[in-house]
Amino acid sequence: MSCIFCKIIDHEIPSSVIYEDESVIAFLDLSQVTKGHTLVVPKKHFANILECDPDTLAHLIQVTQMLAKRIMERTHANGVNILNNTHEAAGQTVMHLHFHIIPRYDEKDAIQIEFHESEKQNLEELCALLK
Ligand code: 5GP
Ligand code: ZN
Repeated sequence: MSCIFCKIIDHEIPSSVIYEDESVIAFLDLSQVTKGHTLVVPKKHFANILECDPDTLAHLIQVTQMLAKRIMERTHANGVNILNNTHEAAGQTVMHLHFHIIPRYDEKDAIQIEFHESEKQNLEELCALLK
């Protein structure tokens, strides 16, 4: 059984497509967190960014950049959030790789991204672990 984005790609269920080529499709997110909220999706099914092949990912991010510029220009947005959620713990609900393009108008938009410091980390240990 194919996932909901595969069904959109196959035009089995309708969507508002703003861009399409041989390997990528972009359509308006139903939720419209802000005006122009768009999803950019590879046509081949990858569950998430970690599973995507490098060539597809390179093309996907290039299309995302091109559309982010277009959406900002045409909606007169003042900024943009480009987001990817990977796995449920990070908020992924549709298990088919996608980038969100969320144009931003001001700080009162219906999306808030805030970074709060949590427990102190040992940066030397972390650096050794991650290097
Ligand atoms: P995630 O939480 O996985 O990063 O985001 C999934 C997004 O897909 C959500 O913002 C949700 O509104 C959107 N979405 C889910 N189902 C559909 C659908 O059938 N059509 C469209 N256009 N968007 C969908
Ligand atoms: Zn899929």
